[in-house]
Amino acid sequence: MSPSGPATPALPAATMRAIAVTPGKADSLHLREMPRPRVGDVAGGRGVLVDVVRVGVDGTDREIIEALFGTAPAGDDFLVIGHESLGLVAEVGPNVPSWLVPGTLVVATVRRPGESIYDRIGLQDMTTDEPRERGINRLHGYLAEAYVDDAAFLVPLPDSLETVGVLLEPMSIVQKATRQAFEIQRRMKVWSPARAAILGAGSIGLLAALALRLRGIEVAVYSRRAAPYRNSELLEAIGARYFSTADTSLAQLAAAAGPLDLILDASGFSPLAFRAAEILGKNGVLILVSVTGGDRTAELPTDHINQRFVLDNKVMVGTVNAHRDDFVAGVEDLLRSEAFYSGWLGKLITNRVHGLEHHEEMLRHLRDDKDAIKVVVEIAAG
Ligand code: BGC
Ligand code: ZN
Repeated sequence: MSPSGPATPALPAATMRAIAVTPGKADSLHLREMPRPRVGDVAGGRGVLVDVVRVGVDGTDREIIEALFGTAPAGDDFLVIGHESLGLVAEVGPNVPSWLVPGTLVVATVRRPGESIYDRIGLQDMTTDEPRERGINRLHGYLAEAYVDDAAFLVPLPDSLETVGVLLEPMSIVQKATRQAFEIQRRMKVWSPARAAILGAGSIGLLAALALRLRGIEVAVYSRRAAPYRNSELLEAIGARYFSTADTSLAQLAAAAGPLDLILDASGFSPLAFRAAEILGKNGVLILVSVTGGDRTAELPTDHINQRFVLDNKVMVGTVNAHRDDFVAGVEDLLRSEAFYSGWLGKLITNRVHGLEHHEEMLRHLRDDKDAIKVVVEIAAG
């Protein structure tokens, strides 16, 4: 063969790097090489190869890293973590919708359908099966250089959301929670919430405050730390009020911010969520979104809470994950946020790690930085 023959075109690398754990084994966070996925990995020509730009991490990732949560895919002894993605379409199969072209900014949903009747109508967020969730349960996640998925699970974003689109997955959790509240409250025929309280000022609490403010609702956020600090200032910037457990009781919160039509608990502290049942207003809805992995117990005035729930037609509901429609609605709220409160969302991204190889630094931010709101890992080169 002549050395001056036609040059071979550069082939995409056959492997890629990813951040993984051995589920159930503490201190197993590691960088690994694994086969790079290909569009053909998804049947029916519906595969989309996505180059990951950045990934956000949250308490679920921390619990997976601490071996308290998470399951490896069948046949693997490791789990690639990461479920809050933002990426760019690199290559598409022959049967994907025509709008999904290379270069499109996309976020992938998290849960994949199982067998239950809910899954079969596209409501895998309501599954009665063991859930399958990318980066969490039985499916590899997005903390990798690339992933492949069915076009049906990808949500397009406008280029203008490149800097903050990584917040879409946590925003989808908030969208589902509020949608559930409105859906349940259709029982009231004319329910139109005027005042809400949010318990917890972490990234979900902040995004929930934003979503409710964008709906014209008065918002009070109740959290541990004494104001002023970054999160309380961010809340004030969108017209929400901040109250600290350090100097305000729940009764005082209700007196200052009630009557509360809606309470959303994102505090991660279940005794507070249940105590808050006592300050919910008439006909109100209390929404639980914290996945509390511990085993706390609490003593509560149950007769009083029970009586007021009955006499005042109140409801308490848990909500997990999100439907693709909630991601689509989340895109609209991210856009409206940039219009009304320009630059606000960007301030939620407090810690940035450059490169998958810095997974230890990612974990330090996630575990030890008490000022962190959202930690993200930058993945795309350049
Ligand atoms: C994720 C959800 C998921 C839930 C339970 C959350 O951190 O954002 O998508 O359903 O954990 O695994
Ligand atoms: Zn999450």
